[in-house]
Parts: sequence; structure tokens; C-alpha cells
Amino acid sequence: MPNRVRLAAVLLCILAELAVSLDAVSPQLQSAQSSPSNPSAPAATSDGQWHHFGSPDQPAAPQVSEGAPPSSPLIVLDPAHGGSDTGAHNPNGITESDIVLEYARLMRVALEGEGLRVVLTREGNEDPSFDDRSAIANASRRAIFVSLHVSTTGAPGTARVYSLPAVQQPPILPLVGPNSFPPNAAPNPHPGLRSWDNAQEPFLDLSRRLAELVQIQLAQRFRGSPDVPSAVAIRQLRTIAAPAIAIEVSSVAVPNRNQLDGMNSPLAQAVARAVSDFLPIYAGASP
Ligand SMILES: [Zn+2]
Repeated sequence: MPNRVRLAAVLLCILAELAVSLDAVSPQLQSAQSSPSNPSAPAATSDGQWHHFGSPDQPAAPQVSEGAPPSSPLIVLDPAHGGSDTGAHNPNGITESDIVLEYARLMRVALEGEGLRVVLTREGNEDPSFDDRSAIANASRRAIFVSLHVSTTGAPGTARVYSLPAVQQPPILPLVGPNSFPPNAAPNPHPGLRSWDNAQEPFLDLSRRLAELVQIQLAQRFRGSPDVPSAVAIRQLRTIAAPAIAIEVSSVAVPNRNQLDGMNSPLAQAVARAVSDFLPIYAGASP
């Protein structure tokens, strides 16, 4: 197929997918896309670092890679932080926002090598909000979201994977009496549809499966990494309506940036392999 025709076909498929996805999301989701409820809220990672996102700047239009069938999941790679938010940093000028962008770029190459469609939540030093980043995944009918971080602590040369913990069950209320209903409870005007803030809920099991697969690959490549992922309440993951994980590499405390750069290739290979292993699981699931 000539390149021009193929490009037109890919664009048409993406537009069709976007139209279907936007029809499928609830009014809450759509309004949240236009007016993020809390775009500058901080998120804590396992090491106690607080990450602040949320500049008013809009992200550059994401560039979806060509060549893969649109029916395959869209892999959304999220280099965290950016812009004035450098994330973790050290006195030698190593910044988390720079490192994770390099990681995402090589990871895209590795995933495209597996025949997958890939998009980055930022291509340069922008700082999209939490909701802008989530919207890229949520606009796709089928996506996989991977957020990339570098910590300030932890054994250098190790990497950990996180997914959101299981939902806390609300307290059971008596069937009769003054406390039968929570105060100010309003009926859901759109039963069957979930709000933007609960978007991750139906995907918790799939996210954990993906986290396990990625952690297995990382443990094989980075000695001292844990064998199993952790469940951590990471803000960015909560609003993703797709399997979603965060990877945290240690650490910006290394004296030489080469140590972190040297992790780039094995990290990309680990994620590409794990995502490929996850695809049949995802294809057979119906969250
Ligand atoms: Zn971070």
C-alpha cells in the first residue's frame, strides 16, 4: 500500500476510534476532560515523594505511531513531570523529568518493534495535567497506560512497579433506621457509567496482572529489584480507564547520570516483552 494511502487509512481509523470512545464515555467524563476537577493535586509515591503536576499549558498533540493495526491496544507512555516540574533531582543536575523522557522515547521504539501503536503524553519538556494525560488513554477504546518515574531513594539500578490497590469497601449501613442512607447521597443520574475519578476501578485486576508481568521482567534485568509489584495509591493512575501501572527507577541519587542512562535499553526491552505477554490476557478480559 502506498504510504499516503496507508497514512490516510490510519488517520481514518483513529478518528473513528475517537468518535466511538467519546460517545461511550459519560457526561461526567466529558466534562472532566474540558474542566479538570483537580489538575494540580499532588500524588505520593511509595518513597514518600510528592509529585506535583498541573501546569495550565496544554500538551502538544500526541503523535501516534503508524504501522500497527488500529485494533491493537494503544500503548500510552507517560514520562512524568516536565516543564517547571522537574520531579526528583540531584545537585549534579540529574532531573527525573529528563530521564523519564529518554526512557519513554526508547521504550516507544521497543514497543513499535513489537508491532504496537504507541503515544507519549509529552514529546518534550511540557507538563500536561493529570487529566490531560489520562484523557489520551481514555479517548482510545483500548489502551495500556505506563507512567515512568525516577525516585530519590532506593538501591541504585533497581526498579519497582505499582498499580492501584483494591477499592476500599464502604462501611455496611443498617437496612433501616436513621443511617440507612448516607447523608446527601444523590442517585446516580447515569447508572452503569462511572465517573472520571473512578475510571481505574474496573481495571484494577488487569492493572495488577500487567504490573506483575512487568515486575518479573525488571527483576530479571535489574538485580535487587522486587519480584512482585506493589499496590500504591498513585494519583495519575486513578483516572485511567485502562490497565495502568507506574514504574519507578532508582535513583537520581546516583553520582553519574550514565548509571541511569545504562538502564534505558533493558528497561525498554522489559516493558516491551511484558506488554506483549499481557496482550492475550487483555484480549480475553472484559472489565
Ligand atoms: Zn515522579
